[in-house]
Amino acid sequence: MHRETMIVHAGYRPSREAGAFLAGPQFSSTYTAPGEPSQHALTYGRFHNPTWTAWEEALGVLEGGQAVAFASGMAAIAAVFGICLKPGDAVVLPADSYYTTRLLASEWLKPIGVDIRLAPTRGNAQGAALEGARLLWIETPTNPQLDVCDIQELVKTARALGVLVAVDNTTATAYLQQPLALGADYVVASDTKALTGHSDLVLGHVAATDPERIAPLRTWRTQQGSIPGPMEVWLAHRSLATLPLRLDRQCASAERLADFLASHSAVETVHYPGLPDHPGHAIARRQMQAFGSVVSFDLGTRALAEQFLRSLTLAREATSFGGVHSTAERRARWGGDAISEGFIRFSVGCESVDDILNDVASALERAVG
Ligand code: PLP
Repeated sequence: MHRETMIVHAGYRPSREAGAFLAGPQFSSTYTAPGEPSQHALTYGRFHNPTWTAWEEALGVLEGGQAVAFASGMAAIAAVFGICLKPGDAVVLPADSYYTTRLLASEWLKPIGVDIRLAPTRGNAQGAALEGARLLWIETPTNPQLDVCDIQELVKTARALGVLVAVDNTTATAYLQQPLALGADYVVASDTKALTGHSDLVLGHVAATDPERIAPLRTWRTQQGSIPGPMEVWLAHRSLATLPLRLDRQCASAERLADFLASHSAVETVHYPGLPDHPGHAIARRQMQAFGSVVSFDLGTRALAEQFLRSLTLAREATSFGGVHSTAERRARWGGDAISEGFIRFSVGCESVDDILNDVASALERAVG
């Protein structure tokens, strides 16, 4: 079967089994379970939930492994840090990763004696910082600068040094990029973004091929209580079937937008792995099915960027990305990234590409005056 077909049906009841295609969310904090607990499949809502089980089955199909669902992308990241790292260990993080990943490491891991090493994503520079490390954390493409590294190449270097590899696959999603097939030990994602794509929930997951890596993640989730809500999980699962439809369109439109921006005189630089002059273009072409739905670009100054955002009439000024509605924001308003005050992260939605291009073109015209 084609991948798109598998995704449409992933985690659904087998086609010959009578009943709802996808059973509704099961809300239960407790289950009738007399006597010996191990005799019961379901006992307590923090331990398991049938709605999670169906969603995790679907995620497993997408990732090519087994998956554990978490309450958010950050909960998923904290789980991998938590099960892999102890005082005295070193973790190699991308210097340009999603800012909160670096914050989590510097504010909570560093004080308990974990060595935090930062190296840029570009040029596989993290490979040179791996000696003696326990965990290599990759993010590709990075948020928000969309730099790219070679997962397979870094896995090879890490393997030779006995270093575990985790990949934050949020910007690409498992539809566009499959880190487990490229050799990673863990793949992590914020499912708040393109994977679910409707800007109506916050979720995350971790997947691995080795069942021995999955068991501690479940224990962590049960003991930390970083469990997802059944309603969010059900909504996420319902949204998954359209992932290929949504992303195929969003990526095609993002390529058009990147080309347009690259030729516009008001735009200083465009960051999009699909552009032939992007430093990671050849790698992205090899390891991704398409180049993603986010295009970042630099308008040079805060004033110009703010005027541009105010002038958009279709795209909303909002954080997050990957949803069906186009959004944009001036990323430096949050701090934490080595970007200019005029840096815009634009998330391309499912609207007509002509309307998106018109909106951006007129907003640029109005901003430039
Ligand atoms: N990883 C990346 C690359 C992200 O962009 C984000 C959120 O923006 C996260 C992780 C955290 O995900 P969440 O907001 O679902 O906790």
